[in-house]
Amino acid sequence: MLFGTSGIRGLYGTEITPLLAMKIANAFAQKEREIALATDMRETSEILKNVVISSALATGVNVMDLGEIPTPTLAFYTQKKNCKGIMITASHNPGEYNGLKLYRNGREISKKEEAEVEADYGKEMRLVKWDKLGKLFHYEYAVREHIEMIKRNVNMEKIRNAKIKVVVDCNGVGMHITPALLREMGCIVISMNCGKRGFYRNPEPTAENLAELGKMVRASSAHIGIAHDGDADRVIFTDENGEMLGLDVQFGIITEHELKQKNGLIISTIEASLLIKELIKKNKGKNIVVGVGSTNVSEAMEKNKNAIFGGEPAGEYIFKNGVNTPDGILGCAKFLEIFAENGSFAQLKKNYKIYPIIRKKFGCTDRKRAMEKISKAFLFGGNRNVIDGIREDFEDGFMLVRASGTENAIRLTAEFRSMDKLMELAEKAEKIIKDAIKK
Ligand code: MG
Repeated sequence: MLFGTSGIRGLYGTEITPLLAMKIANAFAQKEREIALATDMRETSEILKNVVISSALATGVNVMDLGEIPTPTLAFYTQKKNCKGIMITASHNPGEYNGLKLYRNGREISKKEEAEVEADYGKEMRLVKWDKLGKLFHYEYAVREHIEMIKRNVNMEKIRNAKIKVVVDCNGVGMHITPALLREMGCIVISMNCGKRGFYRNPEPTAENLAELGKMVRASSAHIGIAHDGDADRVIFTDENGEMLGLDVQFGIITEHELKQKNGLIISTIEASLLIKELIKKNKGKNIVVGVGSTNVSEAMEKNKNAIFGGEPAGEYIFKNGVNTPDGILGCAKFLEIFAENGSFAQLKKNYKIYPIIRKKFGCTDRKRAMEKISKAFLFGGNRNVIDGIREDFEDGFMLVRASGTENAIRLTAEFRSMDKLMELAEKAEKIIKDAIKK
């Protein structure tokens, strides 16, 4: 299987090769009129891009090269133009990785469309005659159009009046849009890790990787720290003390903000904390829970017309009036709006209490085999749910074990109101997972 939770991703040179990119582009671009293309700023993105362009042109499709831009910016272009798009990126994975995310009309293609691409992948490449080749175009306004869309989705006046001082740690392709947007919003902007091809630090926005951001926020007396992952579909925040808000708290804050603007349906995934369920209930919203991965959230957003917001605790947020894919830049603007309304994030986050929660990752090369073994032993007497991995729900918490869709790993999530119960059950679950990986 080529596709994971989000597109095709792997180590450059072995799993992701120019040949693979050429075949995928040929299978995906076929019979289209135009296909949009963009890359993040990895060292290997340029090579893959050139192969994708040639392969798509060879099928007779016109290619619109949008350059080096964030994933949601490419997605927004495909939504506006009602076309397909290819994003060359490995998102938050380190520099040795790369991959392709495939879009149609603003969102990642469905599992069904992925299967169609996989079926065509093995076939002979489509090559049209010399006089039927596609043409290559360049388009420079995708970022500007994305910024304008974002400005229509927040209260600009309120944000401008708040005169917010921010530190933004781009470390990736977000550098082409977020600092500019923040300045247009009247912020005092200090940007870091911006400017070169490749990464300054590990692109996964974890607390460890964002230690320098925290320091910079404190040193400059900023109100907020902002970080993206490598392709800027995710956004993470710190408060004025340089402390991360926490992924679950962030998701809670934005969920409540959206519900207060307009009551409706929230799409969340099985990994979301109990806090989300409680906030939706408190604000009289409705909730649909789907499997992990933004593709599942996008599909549910499209199917349910009353959906106003969807997301995942990874810092991935999809807004009804934006683009139907996680948009870290619109997410950033929304949090500025929240700051303009409420002030200090260190104070605000106190209103969003999460219960004891564990999220752990266990390295595992044969995920399928391990999950089969885990499935037989992972029985704790809760309500079992197998939408994605195995989840057991209890009155006071839940346990979830699933194979990662992007890495060779098994993930465990457990949350309980009582720390004792969490520790007891998580320990048992860890043992089951470790045994299954070993055998
Ligand atoms: Mg990403």
